[in-house]
Amino acid sequence: MAGEAVSDIFVIGGGINGCGIARDAAGRGYSVVLAEMADLASGTSSASTKLIHGGLRYLEHYEFRLVREALMEREVLWAMAPHVIWPLRFVLPYQKGGIRPAWLIRLGLFLYDHIGGRRLLPATRTLDMRRDPSGQPLKKLFTKAFEYSDGWVDDARLVVLNARDAADHGADIRVGTRVVSARRENGHWDVETEDLASGTRETVKARMLVNASGPWVDKVLVGALGQNNVHNVRLVQGSHVVVRKKFSDPRAYFFQNPDGRIIFAIPYQDDFTLIGTTDRDYDGDPHDVRISDEEIDYLCRSASEYFVEPVTRADIVWTYSGVRPLFDDGASKAQEATRDYVLKVDGNANQAPLLNVFGGKLTTYRRLAEAALDRIGEAIGEKGGKWTATSRLPGGDFGVGAFEAEVGKLARSYPFLSSSHARRLVRLYGTRAATMLGMARSVEDLGQHFGSDIYELEVRWLMREEWARHAEDVLWRRTKCGLHFTADEAEALEGYMVKARQAPS
Ligand SMILES: Cc1cc2nc3c(=O)[nH]c(=O)nc-3n(C[C@H](O)[C@H](O)[C@H](O)COP(=O)(O)OP(=O)(O)OC[C@H]3O[C@@H](n4cnc5c(N)ncnc54)[C@H](O)[C@@H]3O)c2cc1C
Repeated sequence: MAGEAVSDIFVIGGGINGCGIARDAAGRGYSVVLAEMADLASGTSSASTKLIHGGLRYLEHYEFRLVREALMEREVLWAMAPHVIWPLRFVLPYQKGGIRPAWLIRLGLFLYDHIGGRRLLPATRTLDMRRDPSGQPLKKLFTKAFEYSDGWVDDARLVVLNARDAADHGADIRVGTRVVSARRENGHWDVETEDLASGTRETVKARMLVNASGPWVDKVLVGALGQNNVHNVRLVQGSHVVVRKKFSDPRAYFFQNPDGRIIFAIPYQDDFTLIGTTDRDYDGDPHDVRISDEEIDYLCRSASEYFVEPVTRADIVWTYSGVRPLFDDGASKAQEATRDYVLKVDGNANQAPLLNVFGGKLTTYRRLAEAALDRIGEAIGEKGGKWTATSRLPGGDFGVGAFEAEVGKLARSYPFLSSSHARRLVRLYGTRAATMLGMARSVEDLGQHFGSDIYELEVRWLMREEWARHAEDVLWRRTKCGLHFTADEAEALEGYMVKARQAPS
């Protein structure tokens, strides 16, 4: 009976860290079960600034290990998933007498260019803001700027691609499944899960438990594992606003605020600008986190200090908030708490070990997973070796410079797709877009139209291949088409998905 089998690893949490660990472990031959209580990436992993970055700011806090590792990951991850990750240039305007001296910024960018094994990303350069087009939308505060490289990522898709690959390597991924309790029993774990839709409870046996529940990590230790006096992470809220496009330059801006914080203004989905973020301590349920009026004012006011055209509440089309699960190193200010990750193992093979994951960035998730697998190997016996550095995520099997060629290929094979539709599909699914479209020969073959360029065929694929259950999963995480859907269209999609779940084709 399936319930009696003992899996090697049970992972709690379907964010980037849980899915990254599940993928690495399944690829090495461990048997893995992962439970996510809501949707994949429904926690912090879809609420980020969406940067694959070294973290220039962390150099100020002497986080050299983290920055070096993160810088090195930029090109590794780009090669692994060139559909959902791509390079982005940042313009950092410099103001004489500003909060940081030019030599400090130069030193930071020198390290940025040289300590992270950069091969393909272009180096830093200096811009004359009176002449460079990036100076145009800005107030005439700056004569000089530094332009440097980092990367962009579709955060929620990075998570789901890791889950997909984990499943392709045999992992059992369960969404809408909450871990209610976990007990050590005869050298293994008895993990009790609840399917939140049906209320069905089940006990899964595993040799090792991985608590990768991000901002819930302490709650799981208290609620499911019965521990007392737990205080490992500091929860720090960060919010973003998406506004109508404020500039047409393809580069992003890195602004240094007088309060010592920095904010980014990033081109978003052709028509918008993403502005964020904030840092403030948070103590509620991470799924309930919402941007506050104060944060909205702060972001609008900060951005308006730099752009000629002010950023107002009326420009806002969407906001989102997330909670950083930062390892609590006792820093006094939220913005100074370490961004590095910490892994702690409790127990050994005889006792059924538990691995807790604290902190971590999207950028370093693959390295975090490798470090987790080292600890798992020590605890329950090694299997396989490191394999993900040169791997490809599903659909990412094309060269980093070949994105346009992939779009062209798809458009030629499916000439009924508009060019923006073909481009969107390659961005989301890479080479698997053709697998999804299959034998379709006309728009009619895509089935019911729901809004924007989302059709039934894609929704079915997302339900079958990517664990989507609700309209929200499709609109805000698997695709980011939510900004282009009306409330009525979203409701119709939800109705369709409810029916499709009851009568799968
Ligand atoms: C505002 C902001 C901006 C950021 N920007 C960047 C950036 O630009 N670049 C970067 O690299 N990083 C960035 N980060 C950091 C990054 O997003 C996070 O470190 C990362 O997403 C954390 O992932 P996680 O898997 O640990 O947690 P989560 O994504 O929160 O996943 C944990 C999951 O566990 C599930 N869970 C909890 N309890 C249970 C239970 N009992 N049973 C089953 N499931 C459970 C939750 O539902 C959740 O989905 C940012 C973070 C924030 C908040």
